[in-house]
Amino acid sequence: MPYRRCGASGLRLPAISLGLWHNFGDAADPARQREIVRTAFDLGVTAFDLANNYGPPPGSAESSFGRILAQDLRPYRDEIVVSTKAGYTMWPGPYGDWGSRKYLVASLDQSLDRMGLEYVDIFYHHRPDPATPLEETMAALDHIVRSGRALYVGVSNYTGEQTRLAASELRRLGTPCIVNQSRYNMFVRKAESDLLPVLEQEGIGGIAFSPLAQGLLTDRYLGSALPGDSRAAGNSAFLRTEHLTEDSLRVARALHAIAEGGGQSLAQLALRWVLRQPAVTSALIGASKPAQVLDAVLAARMPALDAGEVEAIEGILRR
Ligand code: NDP
Repeated sequence: MPYRRCGASGLRLPAISLGLWHNFGDAADPARQREIVRTAFDLGVTAFDLANNYGPPPGSAESSFGRILAQDLRPYRDEIVVSTKAGYTMWPGPYGDWGSRKYLVASLDQSLDRMGLEYVDIFYHHRPDPATPLEETMAALDHIVRSGRALYVGVSNYTGEQTRLAASELRRLGTPCIVNQSRYNMFVRKAESDLLPVLEQEGIGGIAFSPLAQGLLTDRYLGSALPGDSRAAGNSAFLRTEHLTEDSLRVARALHAIAEGGGQSLAQLALRWVLRQPAVTSALIGASKPAQVLDAVLAARMPALDAGEVEAIEGILRR
């Protein structure tokens, strides 16, 4: 596994990280969950990404991960990076959402409890809060580091400008913003103009989430029948069959042909495409099976895409 420096920090992250947004809730098979995490760790995927609300129900992915830690990974705590977040709705009332100091500190304490950890490696503010002063949210992150609850902090879903302001405030407080986690894949490219240049200027590492567009940039949906065990066939509110548009499937099929020509899977091509960006430290995948993790790790071992391959992909994305 190649490890890439996260911005200007001392932390190196695996080119492929594993996220537990889907497939780690209460309805998911615990044996399968354990197999996915163990496979990842054995392949050098040292970074595991969570959030307070991952499940369903909210909190259950952290509880699942806590169980796997206790069963398997506890002796390797110093070989892994665990991240969690708060920023979306978590509990009722005014203190379980957005970006107040009250919410962030309480939420992280709950997350630590669910995972059975004394600290997380990275704590993120999950989304910008238009109502809370940025100074308060960043002071909460600074406090979280100084109180020993997290080693590093970052922001997620912040635009380039919001990231610049957050980084400047954190710098003033003496706790660097080392990482930004945002959506980036062949279908969603706003980061290229808005965010990635800021990350390079500020020395912040970029984590690209949903690099496979939740499975659209894989072979999952290329056939005529919807796979019964796929995200789109399940209960996810985030990928439904209406998202599998004829347009996106046409593009995915054309990209698949390029991938096949190069002896790789479409998922591998999509991951190499994300990782070609110097500002991207890690591609943060999800997986419903251990084989998907292996597929991604093999992509990280392949050489960077060359100019001809990038141009062929651009040609398809332009159409
Ligand atoms: P991906 O785009 O990687 O989609 C993952 C899905 O793609 C898998 O569940 C699987 O679908 C399919 N898949 C993965 N690998 C393969 C493969 N090799 N071959 C075929 N299909 C494959 O990422 P996610 O959307 O799951 O997001 C990843 C992580 O990013 C999350 O777990 C979370 O940690 C983070 N995230 C952060 C957000 C934020 O706001 N900060 C928001 C969203 C995600 P199937 O289940 O159908 O098999």
